[in-house]
Amino acid sequence: TERTLSIIKPDATKRNLTGAINKKFEDAGLRIVAQKRIRLTEEQAGRFYDVHRERPFFGELTEFMASGPVVVQVLEGEGAIAKNREVMGATNPSDAAEGTIRAEFAESVGENSVHGSDAPETAKEEIAFFFSGLEIV
Ligand code: ATP
Ligand code: MG
Repeated sequence: TERTLSIIKPDATKRNLTGAINKKFEDAGLRIVAQKRIRLTEEQAGRFYDVHRERPFFGELTEFMASGPVVVQVLEGEGAIAKNREVMGATNPSDAAEGTIRAEFAESVGENSVHGSDAPETAKEEIAFFFSGLEIV
């Protein structure tokens, strides 16, 4: 089985959607094996999204990610990385398939409710960014 890092973003925690989003994960066969609610600083959000540092939306993204609480979580299951991205839907909610989290809940391409790791290597790094091994059960 595989693990991936998921973040329920501030637009979603603000609208009390944590449970509705977790239901989508669990219904898809993903198990929440670690979870905590935290508030990131802009500096921490910038370190997490470091690959996007040169993108025009970087400032907007880090400001948004620090604007309220997030729920960081580790999801586990067969093909968890791809499965999670399928459940999330496309980055831009207007491109997201019906029934996906972003189609149902996202407000815009920036405020798009969830993050999910995109590959095994990044999943490993992103999980280690937030969790120690003892916190994942
Ligand atoms: P994530 O990495 O959050 O799971 P993703 O892999 O679908 O999303 P990326 O291309 O990695 O998309 O972009 C990271 C995040 O940056 C997006 O989820 C979104 O919040 C923000 N973002 C991406 N493109 C834009 C844009 N054009 N304008 C504003 N914000 C954007
Ligand atoms: Mg990404």
